[in-house]
Amino acid sequence: MKLAPHLHRLGNDVVACYLIDTDEGITLIDAGLPGHWNDLQQELRTLGKSAADIRGVVLTHGDSDHIGFAERLRTEHGVPVHVHAADAVRTRTGEKPKVAFGSMRLGPTLGFFGYSLRKNGMRTKYVSEVVEVADGDTLELPGSPVIVGMPGHSPGSIAVHVPLADAVCVGDALTTRHVLTGRTGPQPAPFTDDPDEAITSLDRLADLKASWVLPGHGAPAHATPAEVVESVKAAKRAQAAS
Ligand SMILES: [Zn+2]
Repeated sequence: MKLAPHLHRLGNDVVACYLIDTDEGITLIDAGLPGHWNDLQQELRTLGKSAADIRGVVLTHGDSDHIGFAERLRTEHGVPVHVHAADAVRTRTGEKPKVAFGSMRLGPTLGFFGYSLRKNGMRTKYVSEVVEVADGDTLELPGSPVIVGMPGHSPGSIAVHVPLADAVCVGDALTTRHVLTGRTGPQPAPFTDDPDEAITSLDRLADLKASWVLPGHGAPAHATPAEVVESVKAAKRAQAAS
């Protein structure tokens, strides 16, 4: 689905990833669930392009609902997969600390796991070779994505700022739809390794110039990073007070 010039979304409000389309080729930000492969092919056809036009994948972090078709692109089409060094092990092996689920409601929780199952989420392949990136890097990929370190959800969580698309993809540094409660609007994401660190990291987003803030779960926010960060912090305060 096209959101804006150069900017497309694959998936839906349950799980999403993003495609940056330029004259120099395509950059993917996150790789959703394995079943999003078909969504990707459909979007490429709409654009009159093919997997051969994809120059790279940038993962916002190494969790299984973000790396879905990355290994397939890497092995079948030689597409390099970029991830922050601190999430490289998680991306290659799935090793991660166990975190509490926190609050949840049955319907949305089943909706999330049901969608994951339908999109072959249980058959995610880890990415056996990754290109490690660091905070502040500008990648030599279409759209010249800039890496912003956002530790908290995981040690190697990043936001990916793409000025050409006027957008910043934030992965699970925040969410606009809680996958376990179904609550919508900007808020902290569940399954977060270090929730306090995640909130502190949000300050790194606030100064970025963009009109779109794009989470891995929930509707795209057509708002500035500063506005979205304020909303997440307000939701966090409301949580703490309740
Ligand atoms: Zn996620």
